[in-house]
Amino acid sequence: MTDHRADHDPDCLFCKIVAKQIPSRMVYEDDEFYAFHDISPWAPVHFLLIPKAHIASMAQVTQAHAALMGRMMALVPVLALQAGCRPYPEGGFRLVTNTGAEGGQEVRHLHFHIMGGPRPWLRG
Ligand code: 5GP
Ligand code: ZN
Repeated sequence: MTDHRADHDPDCLFCKIVAKQIPSRMVYEDDEFYAFHDISPWAPVHFLLIPKAHIASMAQVTQAHAALMGRMMALVPVLALQAGCRPYPEGGFRLVTNTGAEGGQEVRHLHFHIMGGPRPWLRG
């Protein structure tokens, strides 16, 4: 299947997940965003929220992305509760975005890690 979206990188793992060429356990989907469980979770709840458009990392985010990023941030607390994080303040969640090699980024498609659930966690 050919994907003609200009904002799609055919060599990108998360673009392939968005295109359903690689299976994932979906948490949420709309026209702009996709959320799915991390394949190697650090915490009882650990999912990734990504824009469907291929943005390599936070290092590429500019004012042109301000509205998109605002909508992405506003999804975080809603999806965290939906995915099983307990309510604030007793529960809560951790939001992490690794950026670049020294930032610990492995997959070069912007993603928020959202982690939560009872401690101890495997990491973090
Ligand atoms: P990064 O290190 O780039 O911040 O995070 C990449 C995350 O993607 C890691 O937590 C890793 O477990 C997850 N991941 C890598 N490949 C896959 C995959 O094929 N499916 C899913 N669901 N998660 C993946
Ligand atoms: Zn991508």
